[in-house]
Amino acid sequence: MKTVKKIIPSEKKNLGPKQFVMSPLPNQWVEQISPFIMLDHFGPNHIPAGEPFFVPPHPHRGFAPVTILFDGEVEHKDSFGNIGRIKGGDVQWMTAGSGVVHSEGATESFSKTGGILHLIQLWINLPAAHKMTAPSYQDIKSETIPVLQEGNSQVRVIAGAYKNLEGPAKTFSPVSLLHVIIPKGEEVNIEAAKGFNASYYLIKGETMVDDYEVPEQHLVWLSEEGNSITIKAIRDTELLFMAGEPINEPLVSYGPFVMNSKTEIIQAISDYENGLMGSV
Ligand code: MN
Repeated sequence: MKTVKKIIPSEKKNLGPKQFVMSPLPNQWVEQISPFIMLDHFGPNHIPAGEPFFVPPHPHRGFAPVTILFDGEVEHKDSFGNIGRIKGGDVQWMTAGSGVVHSEGATESFSKTGGILHLIQLWINLPAAHKMTAPSYQDIKSETIPVLQEGNSQVRVIAGAYKNLEGPAKTFSPVSLLHVIIPKGEEVNIEAAKGFNASYYLIKGETMVDDYEVPEQHLVWLSEEGNSITIKAIRDTELLFMAGEPINEPLVSYGPFVMNSKTEIIQAISDYENGLMGSV
């Protein structure tokens, strides 16, 4: 059995005067849980009608920014001409690779009517050998995400092999990403390969794990030893379970660029400024 290594609370990060995200990774308690380098949790928030929610064009290089949408409707447009719209339950899996410029935000129709927006943006690092891979983009619709029914609980397999299922996301190092829904009073045993960095973020609810009570918006970092963990829901619970083979390479990040050295960061900034990542 895996045990709890660390329980990490989220820190509030302001996006602007009104909006903020809760971020357990990275913060003052943890730098990374390789290959996972950033987790931002937005909402659930009510966005009023007529109020646009939009992040203007910006670049990325060296990792995969993944958006897991629980409620609302968001759109992505990038410098390779990809346009993707996703709804609650869908996932947007972008591999920035050598560099992409994109804009992201609520769709026009959502902004018109307003509504509940609820999402997680997760940054997954790429191994050095794949940092300069050609950028790619995957819209993963909810109906293509296999679901494992475990008693009354559900395990949605977004990425990686899980029991007899396989998530649709294409990854560049072994990664398992699971959206787990556990009703109050139920428990579920989650498997993660030995030696993988494994953690889970509590989107909502409350869990009991390894004799610790964990409140929502906390990240639970698990031991490398062991290959499974039993998580019990004290309230109706939803969590994101992340496991992956650690990338044991230097990490140098600067804003939207995540590389292995300072020289590569300077190169990324220069390539972006010279238009090599394109424009939206
Ligand atoms: Mn972005």
